[in-house]
Amino acid sequence: MSKIKTANSDITIVGGGLVGLSAALALQGSGQTIKVIEASSLHHPESGGLNARSIALSYSSIQIFRGLGVWQSIRNQAAAIRDIHVSSQGHWGVTRLSASELELDAMGYVIESRLLAASLLEKVEASEHIELLTGARFESIETGDEARIGYQIEGQRYQQLSSLAIIADGANSSARKQLGVEHNSVDYGQAAIITNLEFSKPVEAMAYERFTEQGPLAVLPLGGKRYACVWTRNIEDAEALVQLDDGEFIEELQRCFGFRMGYIEAIGQRFSFDLQRVQARRLISGHCLLIGNAANALHPVAGQGFNLALRDIATLYDLLGGQNMSDLDDETKLSLLAEYETNRKAEQNRVIRLGDGLVSLFSNQLPVLNHIRAGSLAALDLVPPLKTQVALAGMGMTFGGNALLRGHL
Ligand SMILES: Cc1cc2nc3c(=O)[nH]c(=O)nc-3n(C[C@H](O)[C@H](O)[C@H](O)COP(=O)(O)OP(=O)(O)OC[C@H]3O[C@@H](n4cnc5c(N)ncnc54)[C@H](O)[C@@H]3O)c2cc1C
Repeated sequence: MSKIKTANSDITIVGGGLVGLSAALALQGSGQTIKVIEASSLHHPESGGLNARSIALSYSSIQIFRGLGVWQSIRNQAAAIRDIHVSSQGHWGVTRLSASELELDAMGYVIESRLLAASLLEKVEASEHIELLTGARFESIETGDEARIGYQIEGQRYQQLSSLAIIADGANSSARKQLGVEHNSVDYGQAAIITNLEFSKPVEAMAYERFTEQGPLAVLPLGGKRYACVWTRNIEDAEALVQLDDGEFIEELQRCFGFRMGYIEAIGQRFSFDLQRVQARRLISGHCLLIGNAANALHPVAGQGFNLALRDIATLYDLLGGQNMSDLDDETKLSLLAEYETNRKAEQNRVIRLGDGLVSLFSNQLPVLNHIRAGSLAALDLVPPLKTQVALAGMGMTFGGNALLRGHL
C-alpha cells in the first residue's frame, strides 16, 4: 500500500449524516476549514410519495435552520404542525397543544428526510470552507495536542490533523469505541414500524400522539391527505404486523388510531427496526466531541434526536463566538469543550428522562397506570401553564437564548 498522505484542517467531522452536515454548515461561519469524512456516497436514490421517510423539526430547529440559510430552501416542502392531539387508547384523558395558544405560526414542521438531506448537501457542496469526502471510511483516531484521524479512500490511506474532531458517525460509532468513551444502552424490547398513510378526512396541520397499552403511535402531517406514522410495538408484534398485507395492516392500525380522520385509504411500505437507547457517558475526549446519534440515540417517541443535536450544534457555535478553533491556545480550547459538555449534558439528560418516562408510563399494562395515564393527560389540559411547559420543552424552547436560535449566523 502507498504512503499515508497527511493534511490539516481546523475541524474534522467524522460522519456526514444529517447531524455531521448541519454541524459543518454552522461551524464554517468563522471561516474555519472543515473536512467531512463520510463512508457512503450520500446520493441514495430514496423514494418519495407514500414510501418517503420523514422527520419532525421542532420550533427551535426551524430557527436554527433559518440561521443557517437552510430553512428558506426547504420551507415550501415542509408541512406545518399547528396542533398536537394527545390521547390514550380506551381512556378519557385528552390534551391538545396548540401553536395559537403560544402565539406561534406552528409548533414544528415535518419534512421528508431526503429533501432535508439534499438541501444540507447542496449547501455543503457550495461552501468554500467545507471539503466533503464521500466514499471515505474512518479507520483510526488519536487525541493529543490535536486530533489525528486516519481514513481510507479506495485503498489509499490518509491522515487528517485538526484542532477539533467532531464525531458524528451514528449510534454504532466506531470513533467513540476507539476513543474509549463508554456508553449506556437500554434495550426497550420494542420496535418502531414506520410507514405513510392517506386519510379520507385529513385535519390540516394536526399531529396525533396516541398512547396505547401496546406502545405509542405518532401520526404526523405531511401535507394534503398524506401522513407519516411511527408505531411502536413490542418486537414480536412488530414483526407480525409488518408481514400483514395492506388491508390487514390498515385494519389493525385503524383499530388503534380510531376514525378521527376518517378511513385510511392508502398505505406505503412498512419498515420496522428495533429500538435501543445509546447514551455516551462523556461528550468529549481530548480534542474530540461526540454529537448526534454517536452521543445519544434516543427512542423516537418524542421525535427529539435530531432536534436535540441541532441545539448541541447551536451551543457549540455560541461557545466558539466566531473564533477559529485553531487560533485558541490549548487551555482555552479544552475549557471551551468542558463548558460545552457541562452545558449540554444537563439538557440531554432532561430530554432522555422525558422520553423514557413517556415510554414506561404509556407502554406498561399495569391497570393502575391506566388511571395515571388518563389523569395526567386530562390534568395537562386543565392546567395551561403545565401544558405550555410541555409544549415548550417539545419545541426545544426551554433551551436558553442562542445566536443561531435567534436566526443569526
Ligand atoms: C423511527 C425514528 C423516527 C425519528 N424521528 C425523529 C424526528 O421526528 N425528529 C428528530 O429530531 N429525530 C428523530 N429521530 C432521530 C434522528 O433520526 C436521529 O437523531 C438522526 O438521524 C441522527 O443523525 P446522525 O447524523 O447523528 O446519525 P446517522 O444518520 O446514523 O449518520 C451517521 C453517518 O456517519 C456515517 N458513518 C458511519 N460510520 C462511518 C465510518 N466508519 N466512516 C465514515 N462515515 C461513517 C454514515 O454513513 C452516516 O452518514 C428518529 C429516529 C427514528 C429511529
